[in-house]
Amino acid sequence: MIRALFILFLAMLVYSAVKTVLRAAGRTRQEEERKARIHGAEMVLDPQCRTYVIKDRATARRIKGDLIYFCSEDCANKHEAQFRA
Ligand SMILES: [Zn+2]
Repeated sequence: MIRALFILFLAMLVYSAVKTVLRAAGRTRQEEERKARIHGAEMVLDPQCRTYVIKDRATARRIKGDLIYFCSEDCANKHEAQFRA
């Protein structure tokens, strides 16, 4: 009888351990998918502050016929002002 309880206890222990490992693996996979999306996104260089920004989220400005990407409206305005002066 005690032996049966011990086996039940072991089974529960193994079950919870497996569940924890599976949950951790699932989280790692999500993390990797998220990273892959960031690395897969096209990056553009902001010539004003020299920061790389994701193209989809960048502010685009056409300056002297060239489409240039910036991290913010602020950088775009500053850069544009240099060309105007
Ligand atoms: Zn910038």
